[in-house]
Amino acid sequence: MEIKRKIRKWYLLNKRPLPWRDTNDPYRIWVSEIILQQTRVMQGMDYYHRFLDRFPDLESLATAEENEVLNVWQGLGYYSRARNMHAAAKHIYSTMDGVFPSSYSAIMELKGAGPYTAAAVASLAFGEPRAVVDGNVHRVLSRLFGIEETPGGYVASSRIAREAEDLLDREDPGTHNQAVMELGALVCKPVHPDCLVCPLQEHCVAYLHNRTAELPVRSLPVPKRRRYFHYLVVRNENGIWLGPRKEKDIWQGMYEFPLIETSRPVSPTSMINSAGWSALLGRPGIQPVKISGPVKHVLSHQEIHVKFYQIREDDLHPFSLPGYEKVGAGDLDRYPFPKLIDNYLDKLSD
Ligand code: SF4
Repeated sequence: MEIKRKIRKWYLLNKRPLPWRDTNDPYRIWVSEIILQQTRVMQGMDYYHRFLDRFPDLESLATAEENEVLNVWQGLGYYSRARNMHAAAKHIYSTMDGVFPSSYSAIMELKGAGPYTAAAVASLAFGEPRAVVDGNVHRVLSRLFGIEETPGGYVASSRIAREAEDLLDREDPGTHNQAVMELGALVCKPVHPDCLVCPLQEHCVAYLHNRTAELPVRSLPVPKRRRYFHYLVVRNENGIWLGPRKEKDIWQGMYEFPLIETSRPVSPTSMINSAGWSALLGRPGIQPVKISGPVKHVLSHQEIHVKFYQIREDDLHPFSLPGYEKVGAGDLDRYPFPKLIDNYLDKLSD
């Protein structure tokens, strides 16, 4: 009881004035929670405003084209978040009269929503007593209660979920949830927590036993998968060839240049003489005018090594690249691109 009172008091005095804290609108809270997954608050704030400027309510999101949604999300990464949110908005709009579901269990049914999102929206927008457990909460509770099991392991996760529910302020779960998350973000930081100003100091197992550096126990990093992308930047004054990524893979629905992927590094000479090169371009012997890269693009579980082959399209022998389309320079703004492609296009237009 004393712990939750102290957390609340600290929060009311120290919370940051973030825009999604001024609203009870479930749509806005949902948007902010999805954006803030895997994203720092300052970057998330820009995207939050940008997203709501373009899609101020559920109807405007539900009736948008997927390209428009991905376009606004461009640069934020983890694009499945945007696609799932778009699908969920369409579902609410077409089958629930556009009314956002108001309970934890109904929110859990939405595409892309997990226990964290459902608990956050249900408690913040509707006052349902559900404890959220994100990375910040996990860290605070691991240290506060001295929970030692490897994070992500079933035993630790279920113990933390239980402790979070026990600690929850059922009178005002929304404020309580935000308070614990904020304490983790501002005071109980991953490295060098500010224990001397922490309101929980005298209750904290990790602090009292000088174990803050050991808790929470970190899992071993998972090795990243290496991929080799060879982009064929085929263009002339009428436009540039681009196509959407279709498979269930990174950047699904985003646009890229015609691609040959290999599982190992390949020299430019081998690439230009490969069967894949001739098949994609429709004939052998096409020479690039410029080769640039390699560029290393690091994602959470993958490391992508990229080379760009610029190819001039001859007006007398135009290409026909299956799965790709020719896009005029003036129309590029209408397409969503992964950051890697967007950066390259910026340099091309310089
Ligand atoms: S005392 Fe230190 S380790 Fe414990 S909750 Fe506070 S900031 Fe975290």
